[in-house]
Amino acid sequence: MRILVKGAGVAGLTVAWQLYRHGFDVTVQEKAGAVGTGASGFAGGMLAPWCERENAEEPVLSLGRMAADWWEAALPGQVQRRGTLVVAGGRDTGELDRFASRTTGWEWLDEAAIGALEPDLAGRFRKALFFREEAHLDPRRALSGLTAALEEARMRFLFGDSKDKSAFDRIVDCTGAARVGQLPELRGVRGEMLYLETGEINLSRPVRLLHPRHPIYIVPREKNRFMVGATMIETDDAGPVTARSMMELLNAAYALHPAFGEARVAETGAGIRPAYPDNLPRVTALGDTIHVNGFYRHGFLLAPAMAGEVARRLLAEAPQPERLAS
Ligand SMILES: Cc1cc2nc3c(=O)[nH]c(=O)nc-3n(C[C@H](O)[C@H](O)[C@H](O)COP(=O)(O)OP(=O)(O)OC[C@H]3O[C@@H](n4cnc5c(N)ncnc54)[C@H](O)[C@@H]3O)c2cc1C
Repeated sequence: MRILVKGAGVAGLTVAWQLYRHGFDVTVQEKAGAVGTGASGFAGGMLAPWCERENAEEPVLSLGRMAADWWEAALPGQVQRRGTLVVAGGRDTGELDRFASRTTGWEWLDEAAIGALEPDLAGRFRKALFFREEAHLDPRRALSGLTAALEEARMRFLFGDSKDKSAFDRIVDCTGAARVGQLPELRGVRGEMLYLETGEINLSRPVRLLHPRHPIYIVPREKNRFMVGATMIETDDAGPVTARSMMELLNAAYALHPAFGEARVAETGAGIRPAYPDNLPRVTALGDTIHVNGFYRHGFLLAPAMAGEVARRLLAEAPQPERLAS
């Protein structure tokens, strides 16, 4: 069966990967000139199903807990399994109790244990929650890694607009927020983020700073970079980061550690998270097209499970010779 996957964000590339592994003849078509230019390129890359459960339905945990293994199998060495640290400033420690009451999979850390885990945060917080099983990856590295592996396997990538679908039996549409207004109930949720660069502080894992109005997280990257995210604004306006959002993100980073005050702002950006009313992704068949959309805050976390679902549906229609194990 010849499949056209539209969109080369995390949804499209994981579907392409999964279908390739099951022996399908796959072509990826991306409207932009490169992969990962949509929401996926702005993501934190946190694989954090236990933390996300604070504000998400149960499938985020049950479907998301296999994500780290999936990414590790696809891209050996890219997944960092170092857990997530959740802290709150002195006046907001009640937020930690609230977070704990809405999640599982954590352990309490005292001041000494926080310092042992993240030496640069020593003495800054009296207590924290530690989600030991969580993981993270660098989204841009992961997307280019999947693309390189697929290109090496001779998968075809077409860049730019293309309307000709006649060469394909089925289309898998993974075009994210571009379908807002076209797919029933799909909406955009804007997420603004920035990259800070400083050699004055080291973190080994994502750190979430709770706050009643502006909770943020910081995800360490290579080369002294830190991704700071993210706003949650109900709009599909993808324009540049606003001054207000920038101030909120920077204030919160400074509250986590004053060394961020001297950091360089290396990049700012905004991605539109596609979301359905329940904030869970859906695989929906409409005519000869399967839509895989609505990943909201959980593209890297839930795309592997949804890619598996797409593969199961297509295999039920037309079993293919399995190309590779796993
Ligand atoms: C700031 C921020 C932080 C986030 N952090 C995390 C996180 O830590 N962990 C996590 O799991 N998730 C996170 N997310 C959520 C995640 O990024 C999204 O859920 C995910 O990127 C959605 O992926 P997608 O492939 O559906 O959409 P996109 O990444 O937007 O990809 C859609 C692609 O389709 C292309 N396209 C559009 N129209 C067409 C067309 N007609 N033909 C062909 N191609 C087309 C676009 O150019 C784009 O490349 C975050 C999101 C944001 C914004």
